[in-house]
Amino acid sequence: MRILVTGGAGFLGSNLCERLVKDPENYVYCLDNLQTGSLENVRELMDRPNFEFIEHDIVEPIELNVDQIYNAACPASPPAYQADPVHTLKTSVFGILNMLELARRHDATVLQFSTSEVYGDALVHPQPEIYWGNVNPDGIRSCYDEGKRAAETLCFDYHRQYGVRIKVIRIFNTYGPKMNPKDGRVISNFVNQALRGEDLTVYGDGKQTRSFCYVDDLIEGIVRMMNSPEEITGPVNLGNPGEFTMLELAEEVLGQTRSKSKLVFHALPKDDPKQRRPDISKAKELLGWEPRVPLNEGLAKTIKYYQSLLVRA
Ligand code: UDP
Repeated sequence: MRILVTGGAGFLGSNLCERLVKDPENYVYCLDNLQTGSLENVRELMDRPNFEFIEHDIVEPIELNVDQIYNAACPASPPAYQADPVHTLKTSVFGILNMLELARRHDATVLQFSTSEVYGDALVHPQPEIYWGNVNPDGIRSCYDEGKRAAETLCFDYHRQYGVRIKVIRIFNTYGPKMNPKDGRVISNFVNQALRGEDLTVYGDGKQTRSFCYVDDLIEGIVRMMNSPEEITGPVNLGNPGEFTMLELAEEVLGQTRSKSKLVFHALPKDDPKQRRPDISKAKELLGWEPRVPLNEGLAKTIKYYQSLLVRA
């Protein structure tokens, strides 16, 4: 199996590459423009005979003979995707167009990394796939949210119009090793702040909720989806239904790191969703998948990872 992973040096992409190269039958092309991804994430894979890194921006077309395409490329943390919003939108829209065209030429399957952000500030809770969302088309999150929505549309239109095999997953908040400590996400921020003895930055009153999925669980769901029967196109939610407020998360991080850090409250970013939790009935039914790692266990592994980075620094 010749497999392309776009965004392969990013958080999810590099964890996925690590999993895929374990099978010697696979040959993995890891594509990344290194905008938010890092070679450090795939350093250990570079010596593998079945792994190849290519520096490339998927906004531009590429030619590779592949059987499967995991399209993970796109900055995903709000500060990162808002830094160059025009490029973010191009990455989602031109990127998936280029990947669907590649799939069409080589009869490959495309798995699109979509997101819970397609639900926006959801008015239905928890969010099932049939919910169409509550998204601001003109706000500061729109370059990401609307880009990902348009990318889903292109997947389904290529499927209906040209018969391209597609798989669309909607990923809810995920965390774990290889997420850049400066990513700006709540778990990477809180853990690194706690380890450095800095104040934990809580946005708003900290009562907004998120559901956090440990990366190994997510990768298992993604690989199952890619290799599921052809008629399973999705969209399928992948995430952990355990729901926590940011205050609860801060408490857990402080407890596990035995940190004396305090909480400091900052303004809530614009369009920040109040509540988010996946309805994963479809993933359970179609893929026999559900997450296994609870937050306290996943956090312990994540803390260990960030501790090792601090020691190396
Ligand atoms: N958040 C926070 N402190 C931080 C970073 C984020 O309180 O240092 C909040 C953020 O406002 C949001 C939640 O944590 O309500 C999750 O944010 P994140 O950026 O991790 O992911 P999002 O779900 O917003 O994409």
